[in-house]
Amino acid sequence: MDRAEFSARLDQTMRDLRNDYPRLERELKKYMKEAEREGDAFLVGKISLYLSMCYFELGDRVGILPHAFKAVGIFENTEEYSLLARSYNLLGIAHLAQGNLQLSLDMFNKSLKTIRGRKKVDLRKEVVYNNIAESYYQMGEYQKSIQLMRGCLATCRRLTPNNHISISIYGLNLSDCYEILGDFNKSWEILDGIDGNIKSLGQNILVCGYYARRACVSYCREDLENGAKYADLALEEVRSNHDSFEFHRDFEKIATMEVKFGDMKRAQCFADILSEYADTNGHTIDKIVSRRVQANICDCSGDRDRALALYKELSALYEKRTLEENAMQYESQKNAEAATREIAKLMKRVRLSEERAERDPLTGLMNRSALVTITNEFIQNAKEKGRKLGGIFMDIDYFKEYNDTYGHAAGDDAIRFIANVCLSEETSTIRFFRYGGDEYFGIVLGHTDKKLESLALRISERIRSSSFEHIKNPNGNKLTVSIGIVNINMKESESTILDIIKHADKALYRAKDHGKSTVFAFRAMTNGEHEYREITAK
Ligand code: GH3
Ligand code: MG
Repeated sequence: MDRAEFSARLDQTMRDLRNDYPRLERELKKYMKEAEREGDAFLVGKISLYLSMCYFELGDRVGILPHAFKAVGIFENTEEYSLLARSYNLLGIAHLAQGNLQLSLDMFNKSLKTIRGRKKVDLRKEVVYNNIAESYYQMGEYQKSIQLMRGCLATCRRLTPNNHISISIYGLNLSDCYEILGDFNKSWEILDGIDGNIKSLGQNILVCGYYARRACVSYCREDLENGAKYADLALEEVRSNHDSFEFHRDFEKIATMEVKFGDMKRAQCFADILSEYADTNGHTIDKIVSRRVQANICDCSGDRDRALALYKELSALYEKRTLEENAMQYESQKNAEAATREIAKLMKRVRLSEERAERDPLTGLMNRSALVTITNEFIQNAKEKGRKLGGIFMDIDYFKEYNDTYGHAAGDDAIRFIANVCLSEETSTIRFFRYGGDEYFGIVLGHTDKKLESLALRISERIRSSSFEHIKNPNGNKLTVSIGIVNINMKESESTILDIIKHADKALYRAKDHGKSTVFAFRAMTNGEHEYREITAK
């Protein structure tokens, strides 16, 4: 799978289906299956982030958490700053939706920290600030919330004056805050300020929110005429097929005030919208709002029996909601734990596939590219600690004849068998690599010459005494290898791994030259010369 191509396809789907979230969810799940099969953590992280964005748009606040959590787990400690900043932001929103306000603030702050100083991060700071303001709002810290929202609004006006949607949202939130603090004039002034933006929106649910806000503030100022006017405008917007659930908080306020001023007819219109919505989606929290409004109307219009029945229903609903909240906390904890386990599994698979690329598929031994990494570690250790670094070069004898006699598959078996002998000798200071066709190379850290020689002799003997026959091998008609070894004190030497390979290879050449099936060692002498010596078991 080509990651760049996959990623581009994914982004295109995101753009194509931005107005059809149920379908987007299905498509994203398909992408996820593919990415998980590949064990590609980056893609799994990106799809998790997109899924959480999709659940956010669907209004499924419980669905956001596990996916945002997974995305954060994957992008944390990486340099994918854009993806990480967005993941933190969504995880914050998920916590906010569940009432974990402190956790949500932590996540939003982490998102800001990720954005700060990085021009290429494509998440705008004011989006996060607006979320922080919402956390403070829910904490009851309205002053802090106002301060942040004013900043968001000003920045948005300055940098993107045509972003009417964001400007309208920030303005509506700000007006709400001022109203709660009792500053109705300021609240009204803010609404005046976004009037032009609202008018530029055309058909948009925010228009309904705007009229509802106007109605609320008017009633707060006891301006019943404007209250009724804007309430009717808001109702009209709802009737033109908009889903207004984001503004139900304001609808409840409007209905309550209309009841207070004796305007039962209008109050009933809002109560009907709320109850229709609650009975369609069946969510407890929406039922609570709708029953609360209805009970208030019945109570004040003298329908005591109906009011009593509604209060009873409300009491049961409150109880149910408490249980639901507890279950939700439990569920989200479980989801988070499952996501943590999944990330660990995924990371393990990624490591495995990275390692796999460094291993030879026939034998499972590491290949030449791994040789460089491992050797660098060994050389550094040998230099620092003044240890010896040794090399073992090994080549199968008369292997062409072996293939010719027993067939290529049998040749493969022999290659695997010798690899297994090497693997069984591996320790943290002895590592083997498949160097070429029938060649193996081992590096050995911190062994004395004697120990290195015994290792070479032992391997040679284990192969010679195996059950692998080789009738074309004059050395006992058995499968055998020739070995060259070298052991260099790295403290006094400028040698590199290439020198070690070269010397071991030369020693191997001597072994071949000397009739094969034997071990030769390269030895440097004090006068700067060197010699090759055959090693035999004593
Ligand atoms: P020498 O004793 O001098 O080493 O001679 P040799 O016949 O072993 O010749 P050499 O080492 O030059 O050739 C290695 C042969 O190993 C050549 C190739 O056909 C065979 N070979 C290389 N890789 C594989 C493999 O993966 N499987 C099998 N079956 N044979 C291989
Ligand atoms: Mg050979």
